[in-house]
Amino acid sequence: MIRLLLCFLVIFSSCAVKKDTQLAMDELHVEKVINTLAADEMFGRGVFTPGIDSAANFISREFKSAGLKMLPNSDSYLQRFNAIQVRPSICEITINGEVLPEGNAFAISEQTGLNWNENPEIITKSIVSGDNFRQRYREIISENKDAIVYVNEAFSEEFNQLRHHIQGGRILSGQLREGKASYIFVLRNEVARSFRVNYAGAVTTGRLSNVIGVLPGKSRPNEYVVFSAHYDHLGVIEPVGQDSIANGADDDASGVTAVISLANIFAQQHNNERTLIFVTFTAEESGGFGSKYFSEQLDPKDVVAMINIEMIGKDSKFGPNTLYITGFDKSDLGKIMQANAKRTGFAFHPDPYPDQNLFYRSDNATLAALGVPAHTASTSQIDQDKFYHTVKDELQTLDIKNIISSIKAIAIGTTSIISGKDTPTRIPPLKN
Ligand SMILES: [Zn+2]
Repeated sequence: MIRLLLCFLVIFSSCAVKKDTQLAMDELHVEKVINTLAADEMFGRGVFTPGIDSAANFISREFKSAGLKMLPNSDSYLQRFNAIQVRPSICEITINGEVLPEGNAFAISEQTGLNWNENPEIITKSIVSGDNFRQRYREIISENKDAIVYVNEAFSEEFNQLRHHIQGGRILSGQLREGKASYIFVLRNEVARSFRVNYAGAVTTGRLSNVIGVLPGKSRPNEYVVFSAHYDHLGVIEPVGQDSIANGADDDASGVTAVISLANIFAQQHNNERTLIFVTFTAEESGGFGSKYFSEQLDPKDVVAMINIEMIGKDSKFGPNTLYITGFDKSDLGKIMQANAKRTGFAFHPDPYPDQNLFYRSDNATLAALGVPAHTASTSQIDQDKFYHTVKDELQTLDIKNIISSIKAIAIGTTSIISGKDTPTRIPPLKN
C-alpha cells in the first residue's frame, strides 16, 4: 500500500514540477535510495554499529554507479579516521543518602573516574519547568564548570533521550580533554541537601568514515563545490511500544538521498567546470565529527561553496516548492540560487527559526566558521515536528514529492556556481 502510494506520488510530482528544467532525474531511484537508507535493516545508522557500515557500503556503491571518482590517493570512497568513545561503566549517584535508580541520573564526563562527595567547587544548576530544555542545556555545558544539574520532571522525555544517547557512548575527536568539566544530571524537581557521585567511564578508540565521491572540474579543477548530508543517525533508542529503531528517514536519509541523486544528475550533465565533491558525513548526531574531520583535510580557500542538505522530507513552513537556507544573509549563495531557479516557481527563503541556531548546529558549521559560504538547505519545521529524533521518523511520514522538488531546485539553483559563472561571497570567518 505504501509502495503504491509512493509510486503515485512520484508520478504526480513529475507533473507538479515545471518541465523547463531538462533535468535527467530518475525519480524511482530516489525512492529506492531513501527506502534502503531508512529501512529497519540499517538499525538507525548509529555510529560504531554494523548498521552504519551497511549504510556506508550502500552509499559507496551508489557513488560508484553514478560514476564518481574516489579522492586522490584513495582506494575507497570511505574517508576513515579514528575517534574516541567514552561509555559510562559505573554511575552511582546518591541523593540525600539514597542511591538513585539507574534511570534517574547520568553523567557527562571525559574523566575515567569521578568521586564527588559534597565538593564545594561543584556548582548546582537547575533546568526548571518553563525553560527551553535544549537552550538551557547548552548554556550549562558551555560554562565548563563541574556541576550537578537538577532537571524538572516535566522534561523527563528530553532527559531520557539525552541519557540514552550518553549511555550509548559519547564520541570525542582526537583525545580526552584534560580540563573538560563533568556534569551529573539528576531527574528531580528539588535541589538535594547532599549528594555523592561514584562514576567510571570506559574509553575505547574506534574507526569512523565519511563517504566521499568526486566529479573533477573540466576547467577549474581546484575550485570545489561541496554537496553534503549526514548519513549517521541515533541508532537504537529508548523503545516506544514495539519500536526502538530511530530510522532517521527525514534526518537525514532524505539529505543523503539528495546528495546521491545530485551526483547522478551532474554526472549525466557532464559539464561541471568546477570540481564537485559529494560527501555524506558520519557522527553528525554525536557532535559533527565527520564534517570537522573532512574540513580539516582541505584548504577552505579552495571551497567555493558548500550546500549541506538536512531534512527535506516534508513541506517547509513556506509551503511546497520552497527550501530555507540557514545563515541566508551571511553570503549571497541563497540569492544566487534564487536567481538561477527564478523561472521554476521554486523559492529559497531565509531560515525562519533563527532562535534554533541551525546555522551553527549542522555540518556546514565548520567550513562556515573558516569563511566558506557553507549553508544548510532544509524544509524541516523543526519547532513543531513531533517525529524529530524519535522512532517515528520513518519513510511513511515523508512526502517523496517534496524531496524530489528540493533536489531539482538545488540542482538548478547551483548551475551558475558549478559552471564558474558565479562565485558566492565569503562568510566573515569566526575568530577563536
Ligand atoms: Zn540531521
